[in-house]
Order: sequence, then C-alpha cells, then structure tokens
Amino acid sequence: MSLNLSKSEAAFEAAKELMPGGVNSPVRSYRSMGSTPPFIARAKGSRIYDIDGNEYIDYVGSWGPMVVGHAHPEVVQAIQEAATRGTSYGAPTLIESELAELVMKIYPSVERIRMVNSGTEATMSALRLARGYTGREKIVKFIGCYHGHSDSLLVKAGSGLATFGVPDSPGVTAGVAKDTITVPYNDVEAITKVMEEQGDAIAAVIIEPVAGNMGCIPPKQGYLQKLRELTQQHGALLIFDEVMCGFRASLGGAASAYGIRADITCLGKIIGGGLPVAAYGGKAEIMDCVSPAGPVYQAGTLSGNPLAMTAGITTLSILMREEEGQPDKSRQLTLKTKDVVMGWTAAAKEAGVKIQAHQAGSMFGIFFAEHEVCDYETAAAADQEAFKIWFHAMLEQGIYLAPSQFETIFMSLAHSDEDIEKTIAAAGAAFRKVRESRR
Ligand SMILES: *Cc1c(COP(=O)(O)O)cnc(C)c1O
Repeated sequence: MSLNLSKSEAAFEAAKELMPGGVNSPVRSYRSMGSTPPFIARAKGSRIYDIDGNEYIDYVGSWGPMVVGHAHPEVVQAIQEAATRGTSYGAPTLIESELAELVMKIYPSVERIRMVNSGTEATMSALRLARGYTGREKIVKFIGCYHGHSDSLLVKAGSGLATFGVPDSPGVTAGVAKDTITVPYNDVEAITKVMEEQGDAIAAVIIEPVAGNMGCIPPKQGYLQKLRELTQQHGALLIFDEVMCGFRASLGGAASAYGIRADITCLGKIIGGGLPVAAYGGKAEIMDCVSPAGPVYQAGTLSGNPLAMTAGITTLSILMREEEGQPDKSRQLTLKTKDVVMGWTAAAKEAGVKIQAHQAGSMFGIFFAEHEVCDYETAAAADQEAFKIWFHAMLEQGIYLAPSQFETIFMSLAHSDEDIEKTIAAAGAAFRKVRESRR
C-alpha cells in the first residue's frame, strides 16, 4: 500500500500482546482484509485521523452512532457540562425521563423503555422479557441477522462471524442453541412453515427489520407485514432489533418507514450519540413485567448514565431540529446517501464491474455480484476478493469504510457535497482497479 501506516503497524503489533488479536471488538482488526487497521487519534465532522497523520472521510461512524458527525460542538459541550455535575450517581435523574420521552415521541410503539449499556444487553433482555411474558421458550431469528453476542442470539449471526467464517461460536451450549430456530431472511414460506409447526412454543420472532449485518439488505415488500400477522396469529411477540436501523431507515426507523408496530423494539448506537447506551421498550403491558414493576429481572450499575443520556438527547435533538427552507434532517441524510449510491452505481457500470447497491435511509452498501442479494446465502455468494481490492483502493484514497462486505456503510449530516464528490471519484478509480485485477 502507498498509505503510510508505520505507526499503526507498530501499535498493532504491541496491542496484540495486550488484547486478543490486538482489539476490543473483532472486525476492527482487519484480519479478513489481511492488512493493518489504522489506529485512530481523533475525529471531527466527517473526518477521522490516524496516528500516522492520514486523514480519511469516515463512513464507519463508529459502526453507526455518529449520525451528526464526530465531535459535534453541541454534543461535546453538553457532555462537558454534564461531566462537571458528576459522571454517575446510580440514582434516578430527570435526563433519563427526557431521553425516554424523546424516544417515545419518535417511536409511538414504545410506551415504556428501559435504558441499558449496549445493544447486546438490549436484545438479550428483550428475549428474557418475551420468554417471561409468554411463558414460552423458543425464539426465531433470521440467518445473517446480528443481535449482539448473547448466547441465544449468537447462532447464524451475520457480520463478525461471517467475516471470519465462523458459523457459530464455541462456548454456546447445545442446550441454549436448541431454543433458537433460524430461518432465511426475506423468505415468507420458511417463516410461515416454522410458525405453523412450532408457533405455540415460540416466545418471539426477532429481526433486524432492515438487515445491516450481512451487508445492507432491506426487507422485501410486505415481508415485515407478514411477520406481524404471523406472530399475532400464533401469540408470539415481534421484536424489532433497530439497534442499527433505528433513526436511520427513517427518523422513526424501520417501524415508521414500513408502518409496523413491533411489540418490543431494541435501540442502540445512535440513541447514545457515541456513548454506550442502548434500550429496549414496547407495549406497557409487556414492559411492566420488567423488574421492579414485574418479575423479569434486569439491572445495570451504569444504566441511564448522565453523560450518555446527555449525548443521546443532544444527538436526537439535532436530528429532529427543523430548519427554515431545508428538508428535515432524515431526508437530508437519505438524499446524501442516494447521491453516493447512484454515483457508485454509475462508476461501477462505467468500469464494467457488476455490483448490487442497496440503500435504506442513511444506511447503504454494495455487493460485488450479478445476482439479486436478498438474504445471507446470496450475500455470502458475492465476490469477497473483489471487495477486498476495492476496500484497500478506497482506503488509499482516504475513504474509510468498514473492512467487510458484510457491514453496512453509514452517512452523517457532516458529510459535505465535496466529501460525496470525492467519495464517488475514488470509487470510480477503485472499481477500475477491481476490473484490472479481473483481466
Ligand atoms: C450493533 C448491533 C447490536 C449489538 O450492539 P452492541 O452495542 O455492539 O452490543 C445488536 N443488534 C444490531 C442490529 C446491531 O447492529
């Protein structure tokens, strides 16, 4: 590579002696790309800077949360002010209610909410609640959907595992795995059959309503509606894991974009504005089963942390703010994203490279494939080698993308028209490189 990453290379070697694989979360390691991850020194707006002084236009956005851009002045100021009042109390605060009310305004299906610290915790707790509420044990998940790394959900779980080619993690017992039924995404027949055969044993069907962890794969027309009908018919709960697509598929996430009311919704990433927050919420009758209102136990020392609540409130407030003569922020994000998707599509065509480009609001992604990509199997059949060449060509031109075709790309409000033009031009050169490698 022409990019100078010498400091990152040294730092990575040292980190490998300190942390497994040198990282605190696997996909960051660039292992499947066979290269060294830039070590990050700082970020501002749409830009991220590594310790070698390289500057990149960032489309990872900390894997989703940074929707208003990095170090947004309002967010930074709000966190600084909050910190002077103390960083944690472990007691009720007004700002927890403020964030709860804000989320409920955006998600009408959320009548009660519980804040937690990670998406993993949100989905794990939502499952426990669904099982406690229904008195049933089985859950259904979709192959390639990722819902965090709790045992029950670490079965056929998309990006991280897919990137490393691990079907399921060792350490998940057969006893736990047997209560998780997996079916292909976007396949009405498969889920109908499972519900008909085992519906009365199923506590919940959990789905990423816009899949983002096998690459970006939106639901087919009518698919989520069908899930809503089937779950209702069989007395199972429908859990929307909107940890990624929340506030992105539209302001009101997939629920609003597709007009579906889930029984329980899991949120994360954007809701914390870059600090560790996630949440699960839903119908009051169901949520009131959670401790101490009800018997389903769930707790957290740092849950509702004042700095994190502040970052979340400020980020969501910026997203919801309307400006005279401007389309709303969610629309702005969608339009910026569309520009990139259309630009890349045209550039790929010009270079003679076949891609499938997908978009849902401010989430997007491409697959190097001629075939339609609608589930894990078709995503996995896309050309990984082509992606690898393209990814490195983009990085060398200063475009920072997630190092896997199974990840989603994220737009932020901080991305300027110039950023987008640069991103499209870089993609053109990268597609030509893919084309040349295929000769
Ligand atoms: C990121 C993600 C999670 C896990 O969230 P963590 O905060 O990483 O634990 C769960 N579900 C979906 C859909 C996600 O994208």
